[in-house]
Amino acid sequence: LSEDLPIVDQALSQYRELCQRLDAKFSEIQVLYPSDFACRKGCHSCCAPGLTVNRLEAEAIARFLGANPELAQAARENEQTKPHGNKRCAFLGKEGDCLIYQERPVVCRSHGAPIQMRPAESGADENLRVRDVCSLNFKSQNLMELPPASVLNVDTVNVLLALLAKRGFPGSSERIPLKPKELLSLLGG
Ligand code: SF4
Ligand code: SF4
Repeated sequence: LSEDLPIVDQALSQYRELCQRLDAKFSEIQVLYPSDFACRKGCHSCCAPGLTVNRLEAEAIARFLGANPELAQAARENEQTKPHGNKRCAFLGKEGDCLIYQERPVVCRSHGAPIQMRPAESGADENLRVRDVCSLNFKSQNLMELPPASVLNVDTVNVLLALLAKRGFPGSSERIPLKPKELLSLLGG
């Protein structure tokens, strides 16, 4: 990675590597447990409204939309016409397709795979980990019995993501709504 690149571009490049690694891990788990995944196009209860992204993820999506004006226009129209009312993410197209699939944020890349994290409650045992998965997937599996390599460690992913966001946008800890209007406004003009 060239150190001559502006710092935001360097962070974006590393962010894309993180996304690729996450996608590769997801695929690896899917190959190991094909019958435990119900994920398919048109299944989108995981695409909830109200998601937010950090400044670096927002930059990646904004640049993607800037480079694909037809998708940007489709996203604007989608936000106005609301094919799913207010029950889904504003980037979910009327056919149940993600309009920014290629640049969807990290949280969307882990949807459907078993995940592991430290419990949110303060005071919980330092070594305690909880596991979770979409209620449509891994219905006949005891998640706690899955080997660690078959589970996404979201704490690790989130730490890496936060470090990259801090590198690209030092001083910005804002969360930005995962919505076309907010993200397109980052492009200016
Ligand atoms: S994570 Fe759940 S809701 Fe989302 S596509 Fe997969 S099965 Fe469907
Ligand atoms: S960005 Fe795409 S994958 Fe993520 S919640 Fe929205 S529609 Fe779903």
